[in-house]
Amino acid sequence: MHNSFNGSVVIVGASLAGLRAAEGLREAGFTGPLTLIGDEPYPPYDRPPLSKTVLAGRMPADHTYLPQVRDINAEWLLGKPATGLNLAQRIVELEDGRTVPFDRLLITTGTRARPWPDVTQAAIDGVYTIRTLEDSARLRGRLAAHPRRVLVIGAGFTGSEVASVCRELDLPVTVTERSTAPMASALGGAAGLVTAHMQRNHGVDLRCNTTVMSLEADAQGKLCYAHLSDGDLLPIDVVVVALGAVRNVEWLYGSGLAVDARGVVCDASCRVFDADGIVTDDIFVAGDVARWPHPLFSGQLLAVEHWGNAVTQAAVAAHNMLCAPSERRPHRHIPTFWSNQFGFNIKSVGLPTIADEVVVTQGSVAEQRFVATYGQQGRIVAAIAVNMPRWLDFYTDLIEKKAVFPPVLNAPDSPAVLHVMPAGFPAHGQATHSPVVEVTGPGPSTPVSVNGATSESAPADPRVPVGPAPL
Ligand SMILES: Cc1cc2nc3c(=O)[nH]c(=O)nc-3n(C[C@H](O)[C@H](O)[C@H](O)COP(=O)(O)OP(=O)(O)OC[C@H]3O[C@@H](n4cnc5c(N)ncnc54)[C@H](O)[C@@H]3O)c2cc1C
Repeated sequence: MHNSFNGSVVIVGASLAGLRAAEGLREAGFTGPLTLIGDEPYPPYDRPPLSKTVLAGRMPADHTYLPQVRDINAEWLLGKPATGLNLAQRIVELEDGRTVPFDRLLITTGTRARPWPDVTQAAIDGVYTIRTLEDSARLRGRLAAHPRRVLVIGAGFTGSEVASVCRELDLPVTVTERSTAPMASALGGAAGLVTAHMQRNHGVDLRCNTTVMSLEADAQGKLCYAHLSDGDLLPIDVVVVALGAVRNVEWLYGSGLAVDARGVVCDASCRVFDADGIVTDDIFVAGDVARWPHPLFSGQLLAVEHWGNAVTQAAVAAHNMLCAPSERRPHRHIPTFWSNQFGFNIKSVGLPTIADEVVVTQGSVAEQRFVATYGQQGRIVAAIAVNMPRWLDFYTDLIEKKAVFPPVLNAPDSPAVLHVMPAGFPAHGQATHSPVVEVTGPGPSTPVSVNGATSESAPADPRVPVGPAPL
């Protein structure tokens, strides 16, 4: 690629996607001024260990700093939140009053933890969320002090990983989940039944179809009880609120870009749309905060909160920020995700959330080693591998080829008869946790109604119970 652009580049969001894009720009020969703006005071670090090895005390929090594969020769403005974007003047406004001019801008502001909705209860000593290095270090300190019981609100990936760490540390833990099973929102109810079994086998007090109505502090302001929708008054001293993520978009409101609570809309080349649906030439977006059309999934805008997506989208954005229009690349990444919990390695590829059916295609649930394949209208759209990670590439290929569902694999470890089941995804807003990867509507300025959700609609209040009363 020939790079003739030597103006200034500003990246807002100095984390995984921001750093990898900066490296990509320099790799491609960009020699102009480069500025990274981040609201956290630290250099970029890796989040996946925060709910796994760091929380378990097997890795110090400061060992999560991301390796920097080349000198990016940038000005780092850390601990400096961006508060506004002025497109006419081409400046980013910072909280401290400073303005930073740019010729090309990359938005990589990611997400933050969705807080407990009652502000007073959220501030009780003992209530935690987990998104940042500080969050993880603080919670680690609390777990190491042997609380009598931990309550995890929300059994998505993060909540389930926290519960797993608690059991690893031999701590009593209760998990509440508004839908029928852990990770139901991300993997569906059928796979969720397997994960429910996994949690209970490891001693988790898992309560599905149940939620937390309120949290109570003692006279010293320390957390002491949770009031559950099943009528229980649970004595606890630590709560981990694991309700999913909120996209960091507020600083862009009023900028004229196509932005709402679901993210920043871009085309397949990562160029951001303006609010009228016209694609900009100099504003790009990547990572958890982006929504982009995926050619494999009917051009629906995807929002993906995955490590691998942040890395690959950042590389595509960096390339397209410098190249000639004819050399632009589409971001065609097929979402992949991994999680380690209760001694299980879970990997997913594709878009489970759009599936209507699921079937075990290799291994067996009883042996705790299997691949389940997801289908939508007769074609394979996703797969999850439990303790069988090396098969994921094979299934990625089937998804790319839009292979027929259910597949006939003739694998020696395929079940003799394929039992196709409904995937069992909960209705929008029913699960306590967010799905981590989802389709969010067809176009940049379309008034949205995806499964009943509107563009700005708040997710369901986790304090409202749904579903049948637990047995
Ligand atoms: C606990 C945890 C465990 C995870 N585990 C896994 C896993 O096992 N597998 C997996 O695939 N993914 C996992 N993820 C998700 C993965 O970490 C994210 O997909 C990835 O971090 C996204 O990178 P990003 O750069 O797009 O966004 P982020 O990492 O969210 O970075 C955005 C940065 O921008 C900053 N920012 C926000 N607003 C502003 C502003 N106005 N001004 C300046 N800076 C701003 C933020 O503070 C942050 O530093 C996990 C995430 C967490 C929190």
